[in-house]
Amino acid sequence: SPPSSSSSESCSVKVAVNVRPLIGDEVTQGCRECVSVSPVTPQVQMGTHSFTFDHVYGSNGSPSSLMFEECVAPLVDGLFHGYNATVLAYGQTGSGKTYTMGTALKDGTRNGLIPQVMSALFNKIDSVKHQMGFQLHVSFIEILKEEVLDLLDSVPFNRLASGTPGKVVLSKSPVQIRESPNGVITLSGATEVPIATKEEMASCLEQGSLTRATGSTNMNNESSRSHAIFTITLEQMRKISSISVVKDTVDEDMGEEYCCAKLHLVDLAGSERAKRTGSGGVRLKEGIHINRGLLALGNVISALGDEKKRKEGAHVPYRDSKLTRLLQDSLGGNSKTVMIACISPADINAEETLNTLKYANRAR
Ligand code: ADP
Ligand code: MG
Repeated sequence: SPPSSSSSESCSVKVAVNVRPLIGDEVTQGCRECVSVSPVTPQVQMGTHSFTFDHVYGSNGSPSSLMFEECVAPLVDGLFHGYNATVLAYGQTGSGKTYTMGTALKDGTRNGLIPQVMSALFNKIDSVKHQMGFQLHVSFIEILKEEVLDLLDSVPFNRLASGTPGKVVLSKSPVQIRESPNGVITLSGATEVPIATKEEMASCLEQGSLTRATGSTNMNNESSRSHAIFTITLEQMRKISSISVVKDTVDEDMGEEYCCAKLHLVDLAGSERAKRTGSGGVRLKEGIHINRGLLALGNVISALGDEKKRKEGAHVPYRDSKLTRLLQDSLGGNSKTVMIACISPADINAEETLNTLKYANRAR
């Protein structure tokens, strides 16, 4: 098991901001960019506001591999040493969360973070597999209205064949969050797919993304109101030799050490306000539920980042939502967390962008 965290490096929450370029819709509407970034400082400016983060990535110039190398590659390495980790994409609907994570079916799959995680993971395994045994699993779940659903255990209808697009119904299976006596969180009822190759992992990502996208009456709305969590679990049997010297005789004992760690890759629900999401009562209720997860997440991360509070043993409110409950053993403690706040540069989004920057700033 990993060593307990020292106070100097125990604040293991990093926050990055990604500003996507203006997209077609914004260009046609004649939007102006109202956000600028200085990756070196590293700061984001909007009007008179200026915020400093661990990393900022701007609309032009930064290759997608830079964000991966700086923010996520260390977490993949950490898995091999038994550290759990979480990557969170936060931001309003349309800000680029799905694109950044790589859970989009059409355009995310090449440059997104998850495909890059897969490549790094399998490269690493190839380079060390002669020294140890590995078993990988993935699960892919969604939290919608405080309900946990399995994205890898449902049969998507063919939208066209069903003849009634917008009326596609799926049987996403319900999942229970369990906590073992030693604090390990497990998902009871979630499909755990054993993975041997990168292609198998990619196909799980694709299948779950498809289920998420088609399993709703309104594609855009539903996926923007749910949190999608792709989890990679790495189990290792490490060959260890302990050498003892007794009376000039060297004794080598070959043993094996078991180690298990998981990486959660989270495409969060849209951070826009309930008042903007809904007109009717039902949608408003969903908005409130989503805010519960995002609100609890903000509170958990800010409690973890507050060193003074943490030393006093302050309460970290993991139990306030399904999202934080599920991530409990992978946020704080010995685990590493990266939040990527995604923003649009367009002036029409200025209000939500400022909200996102404030939320992300509080998480630092
Ligand atoms: P969200 O998941 O936050 O709702 P999306 O990832 O769906 O947002 O992105 C919204 C739109 O912006 C999509 O059409 C996507 O292709 C585009 N987009 C997002 N990020 C980028 C980027 N870095 N470069 C180019 N287009 C992007
Ligand atoms: Mg999305």
